[in-house]
Amino acid sequence: MLRRVRELNDAPVHPRRAWVLYWMTSFRRARSNFALDRALWHAKTLGRPLVVLEALRVASPHASDRLHTFVLQGMADNAAAFADSPVHHYPYVEREAGEGAGLVEALARDACVVVGDDWPGFFIPRLHRAMAPRLPVRFEVVDSNGLFPMHDTPRVFSTAHSFRVHLQKTLPAHLATQPLEAPLRGLSLPTLEKLPRRLTGRWPRAGDEALRAAPSFLATLPIDHSVPPVALRGGSSAARDRARHFVTHALSAYHERRDEPEVDGTSRLSPALHFGHLSTHELFQLVLPAGWAPDRLGRSIGGARQGWWQVPAPTEAFLDQLVTWRELSFNMASHRPDDFTSFDALPPWALATMKAHQHDARPHLYTREEFERGLTHDPLWNAAMGQLRSEGWFHNHLRMLWGKKIYEWSPSGREALRTMDFLMSRYALDGRDPVSWSGALWVLARYDRAWGPGRPIFGTLRFMSSANLARKVRVKDYLQRFGTPG
Ligand SMILES: Cc1cc2nc3c(=O)[nH]c(=O)nc-3n(C[C@H](O)[C@H](O)[C@H](O)COP(=O)(O)OP(=O)(O)OC[C@H]3O[C@@H](n4cnc5c(N)ncnc54)[C@H](O)[C@@H]3O)c2cc1C
Repeated sequence: MLRRVRELNDAPVHPRRAWVLYWMTSFRRARSNFALDRALWHAKTLGRPLVVLEALRVASPHASDRLHTFVLQGMADNAAAFADSPVHHYPYVEREAGEGAGLVEALARDACVVVGDDWPGFFIPRLHRAMAPRLPVRFEVVDSNGLFPMHDTPRVFSTAHSFRVHLQKTLPAHLATQPLEAPLRGLSLPTLEKLPRRLTGRWPRAGDEALRAAPSFLATLPIDHSVPPVALRGGSSAARDRARHFVTHALSAYHERRDEPEVDGTSRLSPALHFGHLSTHELFQLVLPAGWAPDRLGRSIGGARQGWWQVPAPTEAFLDQLVTWRELSFNMASHRPDDFTSFDALPPWALATMKAHQHDARPHLYTREEFERGLTHDPLWNAAMGQLRSEGWFHNHLRMLWGKKIYEWSPSGREALRTMDFLMSRYALDGRDPVSWSGALWVLARYDRAWGPGRPIFGTLRFMSSANLARKVRVKDYLQRFGTPG
């Protein structure tokens, strides 16, 4: 556990103050959460109540009805989970930009210690860095992102293979420490009836209308109302249902069907993982066969993709995505906070090949608006964009094609990266994540190799086309379903 904890300031713990504060920003769940476990440990050790602040800002970049609804559904689940426990959950939703300023500091003034979520993306690390010196009490952040603690190694891995080799050597030791599955069950802790009026008067607790994400409530907020909510529900409860559905109906064929856009063959849990409604640890336990234990893992097998976990092939394939590929992005994001999103941080060969082809004729160039509305000449690309616009999620196979074509139809790689970032951040429930950047930068060859002999515009970047994709997998129904421009 200690490998997952970092102190962000050198202020002391104040054992006599009123409560322990857990400032929940990224692991928005009441179970399987190392940060919550740490906060509970402090509260028990100090004999103080635990206050969990779960806030939602309106001034976040890309705040919209879609993102707010998903987060509020998660807050409602957490409010219900904490309601039956001694923990004081404090959901707070900003009603105008800047209204929430000062809330964390105000709560921290009465706190023995503040615990936060160590999540390496979007504006969270900047927010933590700015907050740390302002807090009059120790501020710790805890990593509950994945199976591998991000700060266990300073090394940055440039390929999935080298990361797999490392995981196969080091992960068994980490699997011995799991977050508590049900930390609130049987919990005994001093309780806090209510927060002082000077806090709740200025920063009122979110009411029922907010926690229901009622359209009448959303309409009052200064957020983007042109990106509507989607059918996919937020919150830990829906995420667990979805995970069980995946394990029962799709996992056994995952390795064969995960590339098929017309099939419900993948977990669709990336939004739940992004907002922390579900933990990797919990999902990991759900997909493992009964009776599996880490001592099965044995020795490293040189970074091979299959065979290390000693579980059936589809589960091996799933864990390679969930653990190797997902946590590879967290490795880069946590160790290179200043440039992991940067075009210039791509491998030198990739930058060189794009530069060499910068002035190649580009028969198709589209504006951001044409991309956004799905107005290109390519029906499959337009359908992929249609699914992203209407469902807030789209299929990995199409994401790869989608990104490659944005590169081909943009004046430069740099501009293509900006477009991918904008579209994912605005429409995708799982956007603004370390994985969003590894996906978009993979399109431009991060974690990839050169593919000879080279072709116009792409040089030696891996090429993809809609015609090739449509030869490999069925897309007829997909085109019909999502092909209408926005
Ligand atoms: C251009 C591009 C943009 C992308 N943007 C995002 C994004 O914004 N957010 C995001 O979470 N993923 C992104 N990905 C990665 C991947 O496409 C999604 O994670 C996956 O499609 C989510 O669907 P799923 O949950 O059904 O995945 P499953 O196949 O069920 O996989 C389970 C989990 O493993 C992880 N995973 C799966 N595929 C990958 C991958 N290729 N790289 C890293 N982790 C992976 C995800 O957390 C996923 O939820 C992007 C990929 C590309 C090529």
